[in-house]
Amino acid sequence: MQNYNITSEENDYKFSDLIDIVEFEELLESFFKATGIPNGIVGNDGEIISQKGWVSACSLFHRINPESNLCCVESNLKLMENLIDGKVNHNLCKNGLLDYATPLVVDGKILATIFLGQVLEKVPNMKFFKEQAKKYNYEEKKYLDAIRVVPVVSREEMEAHMDCIVKMARMLAQSSLSKFHQNKLQDTLEKTTKQQIQLKDILDFSPVGVGWADSSGKIEYLNHKFTKLFGYTIDDLPDIDTWAKKVYPDTSYRETVITPWLEGFVSAIQKNISIPELEVTTTCKDCTERRILIKVSWIGDKLLANFTDITEHWKSELRNLAHDNMLEMVAKGSSLSDILYNIVQTIESEDNTSICSILLLDEEKRRLLLGASINLPEFYNEAINGLEIGKGVGSCGTAAYLGKRVIVEDIMTHKYWKGYTDLAKKAELGSCWSEPIFSSNGEVLGTFAIYHKKPTRPSLEDIERISFAANLASVAIENRNARIELEHRAYFDYLTNLPNRRYFIEHADIELSRYHRYGGELSIMMFDIDFFKNLNDTYGHNIGDLVLQRIYEISRNILRDIDIIGRIGGEEFAILLPQTNISEAINVAERLRIEISKGEVSFGSEILSEFTASFGVSDAKDCRSIDNLLSQADLALYEAKKTGRNKVCMYKKENDKK
Ligand code: GH3
Ligand code: MG
Ligand code: MG
Repeated sequence: MQNYNITSEENDYKFSDLIDIVEFEELLESFFKATGIPNGIVGNDGEIISQKGWVSACSLFHRINPESNLCCVESNLKLMENLIDGKVNHNLCKNGLLDYATPLVVDGKILATIFLGQVLEKVPNMKFFKEQAKKYNYEEKKYLDAIRVVPVVSREEMEAHMDCIVKMARMLAQSSLSKFHQNKLQDTLEKTTKQQIQLKDILDFSPVGVGWADSSGKIEYLNHKFTKLFGYTIDDLPDIDTWAKKVYPDTSYRETVITPWLEGFVSAIQKNISIPELEVTTTCKDCTERRILIKVSWIGDKLLANFTDITEHWKSELRNLAHDNMLEMVAKGSSLSDILYNIVQTIESEDNTSICSILLLDEEKRRLLLGASINLPEFYNEAINGLEIGKGVGSCGTAAYLGKRVIVEDIMTHKYWKGYTDLAKKAELGSCWSEPIFSSNGEVLGTFAIYHKKPTRPSLEDIERISFAANLASVAIENRNARIELEHRAYFDYLTNLPNRRYFIEHADIELSRYHRYGGELSIMMFDIDFFKNLNDTYGHNIGDLVLQRIYEISRNILRDIDIIGRIGGEEFAILLPQTNISEAINVAERLRIEISKGEVSFGSEILSEFTASFGVSDAKDCRSIDNLLSQADLALYEAKKTGRNKVCMYKKENDKK
């Protein structure tokens, strides 16, 4: 704190600062009236403070004639020489009158000079004055009358008078001097207090939190911003230890983040280098979290710290990161549920009192299905999964139905939750805000919900957060959907919409690797439509396409989900049958052959039913590649074609040679 030096101002006072001049003049006036002795006070700077009772010999004669006036001035100067405290100087002026002078000294400082005179010491020698009158051309009678009224006072008497006046003045001056000092001190104190208030104001207006502790760790000061940031006042935080435990409640966080920084802090002090800054997540009094940049330094024996709130910046960085992360997951082909799980985790981490969930609208746009949730109880997720949307179906059902954000601050009292309060109570949910997730063309894809255990009203920041979350989810869902189109385009024929050769090869390849690694059974069949060229020629290519699609439908109906089917050539299909041995595969082929031969395609009023297919079947035992597998099945198929068509043949090694 600044040291206010008042000593320079201590002696900065004048006679008039200490003594009431008007009252003192009255006193001197009375003195003149009582004694007839003229008197005066001259200040240090030469100003006449008081002047009472000029003798007319001086005022009407000596001072008027320039020559005699010179004698007055000379004698005054002489009188002023060597003024010493407690000593009464006197001087007989050349005009024959006596003056007395004594300095008024208070606290070692001359405040003023007190003059008494002019007087005569004894009855005047009129001869001298007659000569004076002649010398300066005064009117003799009037001058001698003026000389006669000059008081005649002995030197002892004059010294006693002087002593009395000086003592009186000194007494008055001294008594007011202590008051003067007191006032000065008061002034200084007020100034100091004012300065202190200004410093406090400045600190309180500071946009950063400021606090300091003494060397023992006792916290001595926290500014307004600090309390605004963290909610804690100085009463909550007596020392740095308490601070650390409150704002970093997680022991492992303290051990992994705070302790290493403290070690760096100690070593920086030892090496006399600047103390490293600390960027930390702090828990505030209301349990919310803030990201804070802490800078500390030693100022004298105080540990000064300032706290800059970088939560907004941190959140936007986290959001950018979450956004990038989501896109990366999309690009890497992560499952939608993994991506949505990640989004929920990110949003929950921004506010650890919130619980989030993503629900997805089904294809019919009727029901909400669970997309992702981490901290909602399982029974709750199960109850919500498949819920039909509508006005009054909780926050999410309503938000998806209306296509509008729904804010329910208190679940227990809100009409939208009427039918679900027991469920919410069991899951300990107090509030639920739900934001529709829109596609880029405005379709509702699902909802993003933020729950709190207690009834909670969203802040502007919360609204921003929930829309960011919904947006992120929307990008993830749309990207996933876009990928599934892309995939569709790559794997399915544009005209017939049938899975193509690429689809078959890629999926079959995975299955073949699995078979090689884990063993089991694996078989393949291939079939080719008989005389398809004729069919095209007779009915047209379009009808041929319908036949291809019909045959695919028939196949899909007979096959299991795990069986992989693809159109590998114009009117040729391949089917991989996992966990199926060769005789089971022949059975499946036989059933399929029969179903195809019974198949019909109708167009206009006509029905086409004359189509069949020939089948080749093989197992995967000796096959290292899909090409191997296909060529074995192809050999068997060739056999079927060759031996009559509309039949199933099995691959035999000896067929290789043919
Ligand atoms: P086979 O019993 O020996 O298999 O006789 P096929 O006529 O079926 O065999 P071929 O290889 O001589 O003729 C195949 C025909 O399949 C020729 C072609 O017009 C037809 N085809 C190939 N792809 C398509 C397609 O995508 N749509 C239609 N409609 N026809 C196709
Ligand atoms: Mg054919
Ligand atoms: Mg063919």
